[in-house]
Amino acid sequence: MSKGREVRVPDIGDFKDVEVIEVLVAEGDTIAPEDALITIETDKASMDVPAPFGGRLVKLTVGKGDRVSAGDVIAVVAPEEGESRAEGARGGAEGAEKGREESAGEKGDDGVAAPSKGASGTQGRAAPVADEGPAADVEADLLVLGAGPGGYTAAFRAADLGRDVTLIERWDTLGGVCLNVGCIPSKALLHAAAVIEEAAHMSGHGIVFGTPKIELDKLRGWKESVVGRLTKGLDTIAKQRKVKVLRGTAKFIGPHRLELDGPDGKQVVRFAQCIIAAGSESVNLPGTPDDPRIMDSTGALALEELPKSLLVIGGGIIGLEMACVYDALGVKVSVVELTDTLMPGCDRDLVRPLEKRIKARYAAIMTGTKVTEIKALKGGIKVSFEGTNAPEKPQTYDRVLVAVGRRPNGEAIDAAAASVKVERGFIPVDRQQRTNVEHIFAIGDIVGQPMLAHKATHEGKVAAEVASGEKSAFDARVIPSVAYTDPEIAWVGLTEDQAKAEGVEYEKGVFPWAASGRSLAIGRDEGMTKLLFEPKTGRLLGAGIVGTNAGDLISETALAIEMGCDATDIGLTVHPHPTLSETVAMAAEAFEGTLTDLYMPKKRPKGS
Ligand code: NAD
Repeated sequence: MSKGREVRVPDIGDFKDVEVIEVLVAEGDTIAPEDALITIETDKASMDVPAPFGGRLVKLTVGKGDRVSAGDVIAVVAPEEGESRAEGARGGAEGAEKGREESAGEKGDDGVAAPSKGASGTQGRAAPVADEGPAADVEADLLVLGAGPGGYTAAFRAADLGRDVTLIERWDTLGGVCLNVGCIPSKALLHAAAVIEEAAHMSGHGIVFGTPKIELDKLRGWKESVVGRLTKGLDTIAKQRKVKVLRGTAKFIGPHRLELDGPDGKQVVRFAQCIIAAGSESVNLPGTPDDPRIMDSTGALALEELPKSLLVIGGGIIGLEMACVYDALGVKVSVVELTDTLMPGCDRDLVRPLEKRIKARYAAIMTGTKVTEIKALKGGIKVSFEGTNAPEKPQTYDRVLVAVGRRPNGEAIDAAAASVKVERGFIPVDRQQRTNVEHIFAIGDIVGQPMLAHKATHEGKVAAEVASGEKSAFDARVIPSVAYTDPEIAWVGLTEDQAKAEGVEYEKGVFPWAASGRSLAIGRDEGMTKLLFEPKTGRLLGAGIVGTNAGDLISETALAIEMGCDATDIGLTVHPHPTLSETVAMAAEAFEGTLTDLYMPKKRPKGS
């Protein structure tokens, strides 16, 4: 073997016998640490293998088309003149690697690594650890508490900025509620529901399928495989970015300390900076008996069995999405909602098509009604109601789903022990995601509504950047909301209800999907696209869409609001035909009075 240090394929997950699809360097090249050497391709993704240290490439042991596994030698790199002494002193590849990690974060006096200079060289330093107490079991530079979409995004962004990152997660898998027991498994099941519905719908149009046979174990297995692919992917990305993952449940015990209760017992973790991303928990109804037939959303997604009847308590997003899944799988669903309308916070006209569809399918929709008692009996769950649409007598269901909201975890992690202000479980932050404690940041559900994964990921990036000394702030004008029901409902920015309540002047452009060729072709003409404009400027203030793929269609309107677009900008943007996306442009034209696909009395002729 040539003189120098061997570079091996790192252990970044389940990589065995993968193909080298590109060799990016040649023997004799001078390479810097992190320079990509080769690209390998697995069945899931292609990725570069970077050089763990710099020097002169004296030997390449692989070529394009070769197959490699974790631990295989791919190259030999000799130190450049002048570097050899320093490296020799550390000794061997292992020592050199350790040295590289240490130099990435200068050691402070107290032994805790301060933040490194990041790749862009613009990062500042963390607040020094003002913790003179005894050394901890684990020393962390930037600690991220919680590995949901907010937490892992913050950890990965900070690692990209050159930080030494430790990520704490109580569950075995990364990804938090969203990936494990929320957005992703529910979308897999909602897809299954949509397939059943579409197949049934076609029976009226000349294609008749038999009644679907539901193999629950297989369906559950498929849902779990979708989740597994994503969570495994996160493990790989964490390894690639050298983010250290600690398992266990953490509670603050001081401004720079957490106690971690994990598989190795209790450990004290000391940190220079922390990003809290500990999320939220389902709220339970007081007095609910402890019975496996009474489920929260996690229990409902576990899909243990298909009951004959299900009562969903709470007509919000979670309740209605899960109702949609169980209904498609043949369960007799009832919904009880405390307020007078389903999905409070969303305009009535957007909810109406959903309401109409589910009223015709579900056993009961009891709005303006509350649950007064739940009794777990041998033969079922007996529920008593009170209110506008309450049945006269208590009803018995095989299972009950409680989906009455989520509660933030600020108290559960004892953030107050770090002097972090906690208000009813929420942790207030400024636009830089900073809490009242200079070196502690917070993001996601724990900082306030809306409790949405896409808000958390954006906040996570901001916190990572600010903690690393970058000028960054959360300044999104709007955050879209989506209910992945059938039909989907999505809205962003100003709603009509909000405009009326706050006295905001607006005019609207509405395009009913009954006039959309594409929506007729897919047999779903109940949709609608509604845009709200500022009357004086014509600028888009808000949008609401109900119908197939509304959740995907809403992004264009969010961008339009962010960019300050007016109705003309949207209407003159050529949208492909025939698509559902055209309905956005047509709603803008309806506002402008230039729409030709419908005959509408002109409200606002162009140029007036
Ligand atoms: P939610 O607040 O959206 O809905 C809860 C519903 O329960 C409300 O309509 C409320 O009026 C009703 N309710 C409260 N107490 C009740 C009672 N005693 N009896 C009957 N009804 C009662 O909460 P959720 O649906 O549990 O969702 C929790 C959070 O998760 C929300 O912030 C939501 O936005 C988020 N989430 C988002 C998505 C998505 O983006 N698609 C999906 C799931 C959850």
